[in-house]
Amino acid sequence: MDMTRIRDRMVEHHVTRRGIRDQSVIGAMRMVPREKFVPPGSEEFAYEDAPLSIGEGQTISQPFIVALMLEKANLNVGDKVLEVGTGSGYASALISRIARHVYSIERHEKLAFQARERFEKLGYRNIDVRVGDGSKGWAKAAPFDAIIVSAGAPEVPTALKEQLHLGGRLIIPVGGGEGQRLKRFTRTGAAAFEEEDLGGVLFVPLIGEDAWTASHPMYTATTPSLPGTIAPKPSSPPNAQGGSMEKIHKLPALPEGVLDHSEFQQRFWAVQRISWIVFMLLLVTCLLGLLGRGGPFSRQTLLLPDGSVDFPVISRWNAPEDMTVTFTPSSEDRVLTIDAAFLQSFSVQGVDPPQKATFARDGRIGYVFPADASGPTQIVFRLQTQLPGPRRALIGMGGETRTQSTFIFP
Ligand code: SAM
Repeated sequence: MDMTRIRDRMVEHHVTRRGIRDQSVIGAMRMVPREKFVPPGSEEFAYEDAPLSIGEGQTISQPFIVALMLEKANLNVGDKVLEVGTGSGYASALISRIARHVYSIERHEKLAFQARERFEKLGYRNIDVRVGDGSKGWAKAAPFDAIIVSAGAPEVPTALKEQLHLGGRLIIPVGGGEGQRLKRFTRTGAAAFEEEDLGGVLFVPLIGEDAWTASHPMYTATTPSLPGTIAPKPSSPPNAQGGSMEKIHKLPALPEGVLDHSEFQQRFWAVQRISWIVFMLLLVTCLLGLLGRGGPFSRQTLLLPDGSVDFPVISRWNAPEDMTVTFTPSSEDRVLTIDAAFLQSFSVQGVDPPQKATFARDGRIGYVFPADASGPTQIVFRLQTQLPGPRRALIGMGGETRTQSTFIFP
């Protein structure tokens, strides 16, 4: 399915209207198929401005926040860029459409492998993906013109600052229980950095030697769900008595809003699904109505002692219809009666062969046809449908009556 238009709409609504001006970022977002970076079955949500679960307890970031980070990184065509936290690979793919080369590190082997496969399929050849701890950077490929960290660190990892070119930009969410702030550090000298605060954000934690420990309350390696629905209780760091990790940071409380967001998203999806089901049911009903008219379900035959009536049960508003009445042979005059409800559903345009007489009695109209003992007599009533909706009418032959339903589509 071609999602170009939906993607353009997403860029318009969630990126440009919210203040992103960098044409290279906007162009990359129009180009990279985000639906290819979400798990099968989630494609329909790929263009909502929301983080989506990608497995391993991780998420693909919200399009707006990715656009903001890339804009703030001031990426240029010749740049060499490091992304820490490859995740689905979406942000690295965007960077690869703007900069010369992307180095991307992911600590989860499975995610890194999937991202690499996606880049290969899409023909994005200027991205190197590695499994590892991005809090230590990628020393062999350094220095970088820009480093983008897609997970929240307790403090800025020293290695990342060291691996910036002079003039290089590091975009990183930093903060603990009191909330994360998106920061930009620009290297202005050997040990000098200009620091700017770009606003409050909420990212999954950066787990590593120079970051959070793996027992961060937002973190789990096995539950494939959104952050906040996971890790019910913070557990003690496995290396609390002196493991291999150099730094153990105080575990912050789960940031507010994470759980709310995931619940809101799930409810939103549920409402969206229900709306789709209702819409599809209506569509199928309408199609059945259209197909049914003239089709096998559109008519029904009423059997009475004096004959039968072939009657339209599905029809369209303001459409011509026939009702065929067959009388059994009889040496006496035959009578067909209809009621006022019938005349609300249909107007009688003609009777073929015509009736001998017509009478009105007890709110019903009677059509009298001459006797014919030689064989069955067939009369065709030419009708025109009247009011749309479900209708019921009373039809009689001789002394017997039957109630008949019909549905006239608007
Ligand atoms: N940029 C990604 C995308 O577009 O899909 C989203 C990244 S997701 C919000 C954060 C990612 O950072 C997760 O996949 C997580 O496994 C990864 N991560 C966390 N700590 C890391 C570390 N020390 N080194 C590398 N990746 C890490």
